[in-house]
Amino acid sequence: MIVVRAVEDQPNRGIKKGDEFRLYIVDAHHHMGSEKGHRNTPAGAYDFYASLWLEILKQSKVLKEDDSLLFEPVSVQAPDLATRVFNSRDSWKRLNHGWLVDRTVVFPYTDDYSSPEEPGAPSFKVSNDKIASWTSRAPHSTRLIGFSRVNPLDGGLTAVEELERSVKELGLRGLKLHPLAQLFIDSIEEDASRNVVKRAGELGLPIIFDTRNMKTVVRIKRLVDSMRNDPQCGDALKGLRVIIAHCGMSPGDSRLFEALKDPLIFGETSTLHDRDVPVLFETANERLRNWSEKLLFGTDFSFLSVQALDIIMYMLSRDFPGTLGDAQRILAGNTLSLLKTPFRTSIGSSGTPSEFICRDESRKSQGKLEDTLIELLNKGNWDLGSLDFMIPPEGTWPEPRPISSDGTNGVQQDSYVLTLTSKNKTKECHVWIRRHPGDLLSCVVLSTQGMIQLDTLENASQKLGRVLLRSIADNSITLKTSKEMQSHVLRLLS
Ligand SMILES: [Zn+2]
Repeated sequence: MIVVRAVEDQPNRGIKKGDEFRLYIVDAHHHMGSEKGHRNTPAGAYDFYASLWLEILKQSKVLKEDDSLLFEPVSVQAPDLATRVFNSRDSWKRLNHGWLVDRTVVFPYTDDYSSPEEPGAPSFKVSNDKIASWTSRAPHSTRLIGFSRVNPLDGGLTAVEELERSVKELGLRGLKLHPLAQLFIDSIEEDASRNVVKRAGELGLPIIFDTRNMKTVVRIKRLVDSMRNDPQCGDALKGLRVIIAHCGMSPGDSRLFEALKDPLIFGETSTLHDRDVPVLFETANERLRNWSEKLLFGTDFSFLSVQALDIIMYMLSRDFPGTLGDAQRILAGNTLSLLKTPFRTSIGSSGTPSEFICRDESRKSQGKLEDTLIELLNKGNWDLGSLDFMIPPEGTWPEPRPISSDGTNGVQQDSYVLTLTSKNKTKECHVWIRRHPGDLLSCVVLSTQGMIQLDTLENASQKLGRVLLRSIADNSITLKTSKEMQSHVLRLLS
């Protein structure tokens, strides 16, 4: 998280000079693997974010002298629970940095190993395996979110099958498509890529499309429109979300905004820098009704690096046409809202949930329960598939509040889902920890598959299935001490 400080009173926004705010940052576009001169791993990502922070500090000095900043960057703050996971093992400790960016959406390059291993095999199989191995194990699973990549031109249903495998077996949570690199730029609307897009929609996966020009953007928009008019795409449309990476590299083009007006289409900011940046945000503000819900911050590391700086600095400047809340949506909220559901793979089974509740006025019980779970990761039979914080329901991201009040920014750091996967890959469960009014702490251990599962990270009871709520209520135990809670949870996970 980046901590920023108001440089002057902003009475119309209820902000006082010196008020400090925490902004959560998610990078929606990041590559790992290796492609010719490019090579990147989790350690490379964190190093990049650490150096980006130094660039931010340098740049902010210059901009402050020009009096062009409304908020000045002050520091980087690491999220508590994820840092404790990193600090729990000596070999992980040295990777505990670069927390300017809290979470990163990671997908393959057109890797040196992306071509099919044998005729008829899918492209990107090895690449997708590598992405999963980086993103779904502790400690990186606390900050990386893996997306799959496929080549629609693999022939037959090969790409669709690889997509299904990477979602069900590997737990990847979105899809990257690159029409230029995989040579389907002229056939985006044709069956091969349409079948992949349709299946991704049915699986509820956001799809990020590389776009370098308006022709590609227009074709993607036409594809979405044609699916909308196709009765066979009814299920796909329910889960379809398309992200236009690089905003077609044409941030002022009216055709980009025609596409972004589509409720299923979003724009991602990587590549845009310098004069592109004000053009994108000003035009979005003019042309789109809910403009700050339509744009996602991304870096495209390692193809690009410091360009991301311009986007962040602009959002803190006097020229930015939005509030800190708009910046927070673009920096993290929109990407998290598109991801929506907690991590899971198909190895989970169905079952009855167990809920434990105890009072936790000092928040010590929560800390102790977390310590117990971290210890379990280090000593027990479980690995951490993901750490997913609860978020506000779509369209309700709040304005961040000053740290001196409660410092909230929408991402609920004390209510979250841990996906635990047994090391022998036979069991998987969600450990869902939440704070409730009246200083109550609850911990629900539930299965990741079947009728009774958690399908959303949106923290609002109306978003939760009635069957799930009833089943939790029927299996809820109120305990007197946090010790009892720890031992009940441990017993379930033994
Ligand atoms: Zn890229």
